[in-house]
Amino acid sequence: MQEQEHRFDLQRQRMVEEQLIPRGIKDQRVLDAFRRVPRHMFVASAQQHQAYQDHPLPIGLEQTISQPYIVALMTEALRLTGTEKVLEIGTGSGYQAAILAELADQVYTVERHERLSEQAADILRKIGYTNIYFKISDGIMGWPEKGPYQGILVTAGTPEIPTALLEQLSPEGRLVIPVGDSWMQELLLVTREKEGLRKINLGGCRFVPLVGDD
Ligand code: SAH
Repeated sequence: MQEQEHRFDLQRQRMVEEQLIPRGIKDQRVLDAFRRVPRHMFVASAQQHQAYQDHPLPIGLEQTISQPYIVALMTEALRLTGTEKVLEIGTGSGYQAAILAELADQVYTVERHERLSEQAADILRKIGYTNIYFKISDGIMGWPEKGPYQGILVTAGTPEIPTALLEQLSPEGRLVIPVGDSWMQELLLVTREKEGLRKINLGGCRFVPLVGDD
């Protein structure tokens, strides 16, 4: 067992050195978070041997845990310093929430599948996180009661930026969201500035769709 943990630890360090640093992830706090969070705990045991590989993995209910690099790219774009309140839409496995919890003060995460939310909450509590709050509902509405947020991260693709999320973004806040059709999206960084909203394209990506109730 200990030997197994040691093997995962080596794979995790290699993931950072081979997948994140060469592609330009520079924020040391982000890199350290990826060195710590046990990604293998967020996938089924049959998939644990692949947990640190350079691709997404299925987590059930047709959902996926994103490729490590994409999680890192989105996280780095939020420029977290440790004091922030962050909203995540699409809890999924809980892996991205764990990374955010390492880097921000509080993480609010919304998931429409009850089973995924409960499973993620179980794992995150088992690992020891106490600054992550879970909600089962349609993330298109955000989580207005707890806002505004200095960072918002949407981990499912959508044709348009939901207005509720823009309303819950604090001044100087940063929102990262994959915008496009169900096949391909552009990862957008939206910042709220005095002059208005500024959008920066971080590159192409492919996420499972953000499913709306309407
Ligand atoms: N962040 C996750 C990956 C999420 S995959 C991780 O680290 O593992 C996208 C997730 O968004 C899925 O779990 C899906 O169920 C969820 N989702 C899709 N549409 C949603 C919606 N409208 N509201 C909340 N969650 C949604």
